[in-house]
Amino acid sequence: MPLQDSGLENAVTGEFDNDEMRFVIIGINAVNGDTLLQHTKAVDTENMDKESSGSNTDEVFFENTANVNMPIDNLAEELKKWIIGYNIKHNAADALLKILRDRGHKHLPFTAKTLLKTDPVESQMASGVECVQFGVTEQLIMCLNRYPYNYARDIIELEISLNVDGLPLFKSTGKSFWPVLCTVHLKPASTFPLAIALTEAKPKSLDFIKVIADELNMILMNGFSWGETTVTVRLRCITCDAPAKAMLKCIKQFSGYYGCDKCPQKGNWEGRMMYQQVHVLILRDDVSFREQHQPEHHQENTVSPFSDLQIDMVKSCTSAA
Ligand SMILES: [Zn+2]
Repeated sequence: MPLQDSGLENAVTGEFDNDEMRFVIIGINAVNGDTLLQHTKAVDTENMDKESSGSNTDEVFFENTANVNMPIDNLAEELKKWIIGYNIKHNAADALLKILRDRGHKHLPFTAKTLLKTDPVESQMASGVECVQFGVTEQLIMCLNRYPYNYARDIIELEISLNVDGLPLFKSTGKSFWPVLCTVHLKPASTFPLAIALTEAKPKSLDFIKVIADELNMILMNGFSWGETTVTVRLRCITCDAPAKAMLKCIKQFSGYYGCDKCPQKGNWEGRMMYQQVHVLILRDDVSFREQHQPEHHQENTVSPFSDLQIDMVKSCTSAA
C-alpha cells in the first residue's frame, strides 16, 4: 500500500493490481512534524479473515482523515444522492451495486429500488378523498435546489403554473388519481406534484385543492424564503381540460346551457351544445365572474377553491388540449 508519502496532505489515488481495482484515499495530517496516518476500513466481512492473516490481495480500504468516524451507511446515502442527482437508470445503479458488493460492501442492497426506498408517506382521508400533500413551499425549495447553484442563486422571482386533471386507474372501477402538478418556468422548466388525491370517480370535495390554494395564496402575497433571499412567485395560469376546469371553477360543465366560460350567451342544444353568436360578444371578466352576474353559470352553494387568489378567474384558467 502506497501510504507512506509524507509529502501529501490529502491525496487520492486509485490503482489497478492484477485486474483488481483498489481505491485508496489517503489522508495525512502533519502533527508536530510526524506523519499521522489514520484510516478506517470499510465493512468487509468477506476479507476479514484474509486481513487477519496478513494478506492484502483483495483489500478495499477507505482511508480518510476528514471523517474517520464516518458511518458505513454514508456510502449508501452518497449513492442515493448520486443516483437521484444524476438521474441514473436503475439497471445501471444495480450494476454498480453489484460491483461494490462484490468488492466487499456487503451492507449495500442488491438493487437501486431497495436503496432508494423512501419512508411511506401519510395520506389523509376526507370526504371520500384520500390525499397526500407535499407542500407548496417545500416543493418549490426542492425544485430550486435541483438547479445548478450558479443559476439558481440569482433567482428572485418565479413564474409557476398549475395543472389539475383526473387519471382513471382501472376500467373496472371509477377510482381515479387527481394529481395537482406545478410547473416552474425556469430553464429548463420543472414539473412536480403538490398533491395526489385518490377518489371514487369525480372528487366529492375540493378540500385537497383548497389546502394548496391557501398556501399558494400566502406565497403569491409574501413570496417564500430561499437561503437568504425572498423569492416572489407569480401564477401564470391554471391549466386543465374542460370538465376539470368546470369542477375547479365551480361552474356548469361546458355542455350546459350556460357552460361557456368565455361569454355569457345561452347555448342551443342541437345534438350537442352550440353557441351560435360569434360576433359582438360581451365577454366574462374577473369581476362579473366573482360577483356571479350570471348565476346560471355557477354551481349553487359552492365557491372555487382558487377564488381567494389574486388572479383573473377567467383569463388565468385555461384549457388544455
Ligand atoms: Zn362563449
